[in-house]
Amino acid sequence: MTRAFEDLWAQTFRYTAEHSPFYREKFRGIKDLPALQSLPTVDKQLLSERNLDFLCVPRERITEIVTTSGTTGRPLLWMLTDSDLRRLALNEQLSFECAGLSASNTVLVAVALDRCFMAGLAYWLGLRELGCSIVRVGPSSPVLVLEMIERAQPTAIVAVPSFLRVIAEKAREMGFDLKKSSIKKAICIGEPLRERSFALNTSGRAIESAWGAHVFSTYGVTELANSLCECDAGAGGHLHTELLHLEVLDDHDQPLPDGEIGEIVATTFGVEAMPLIRYRTGDCAALFRSPCKCGRPTPRLGPIVGRKNQKLKFKGASLFPSTLQAVLEQTEGVESFVIVARAENELSDSVEVLVHGEASVGTLREALQARSKISPQIRHVSSAEIEALQMPPQARKRRTFVDLR
Ligand SMILES: [Zn+2]
Repeated sequence: MTRAFEDLWAQTFRYTAEHSPFYREKFRGIKDLPALQSLPTVDKQLLSERNLDFLCVPRERITEIVTTSGTTGRPLLWMLTDSDLRRLALNEQLSFECAGLSASNTVLVAVALDRCFMAGLAYWLGLRELGCSIVRVGPSSPVLVLEMIERAQPTAIVAVPSFLRVIAEKAREMGFDLKKSSIKKAICIGEPLRERSFALNTSGRAIESAWGAHVFSTYGVTELANSLCECDAGAGGHLHTELLHLEVLDDHDQPLPDGEIGEIVATTFGVEAMPLIRYRTGDCAALFRSPCKCGRPTPRLGPIVGRKNQKLKFKGASLFPSTLQAVLEQTEGVESFVIVARAENELSDSVEVLVHGEASVGTLREALQARSKISPQIRHVSSAEIEALQMPPQARKRRTFVDLR
């Protein structure tokens, strides 16, 4: 470990031991600086139960109150001081610099700046720090995005990949050639763009070809007030080591070597309101510490392959639904699909793939076996059945993985 890490960790430990009701209780009686790896982890469940016990400052010091994305249960309240907003701005500035943005860029932000989201605010702060011109068009209207591309001539866009695809579809309908537009870079948030091998996935390829722009993948977590953005090399998001420390742990909480996929566990540095130590994100990916082609010496976080609790057990082996999803998205003759997991026994889940389209069971079995080494049950069903599973009543997001375990 470098000296810088030791200093940052010592600072975080002393600060939380003094100011955080949660950590004060946990660290009682510890006098010397403990090794970070010797401390227990904190998961989302615990964070949700003790939400405001993580707050280190009096309420009058709070500048912003946001909520977490809340993939499971009620979103948490998350608070930031003025200093935390400056840290957030610095983090985003560093991230946008990885994507090669500078003061000469005009950037269209097609992400919500309201609804208690942190992301939109973070982008706005980071782009200001960088000195860019900002067009806050938001995520609600593809027509407005196209109009502002034409009028403001932005050189980059920040958006969720699925929204970039909706805009591309609208552009096609309107006869608007996005490839000839001023946009040369698309900074993508919230959805995966790359496969484990770093190759662009179906969504990433569709965006690059429709927009004629270079796509950049990012990974951000509200509770960490942090995001990682990849550089031109497209080989993982660069970690800003002065702001965040990452570990990748296996199922027994042991650190994994470079390139091996496990749960991302994070410790924040320099956070004033709600610092976190060894926070389990629930997301799975690999870390890479070898030097990047761009020359930055910082570690890189590879593509997120899935949520830890989505991992499938298959006769002693394990895999993420994203592996099967990638195969199905690329197989010709598959119009739509759903992967259904059920509990079978201690060692195995039962996995069934429901498909609509002309691809034969044999073709699908071969493709799935070649890429994932497993052979799930495969069944052809109507498009209506798939639709009902993908978008059940009250669903907010389309899903291709249904977990019945
Ligand atoms: Zn790089």
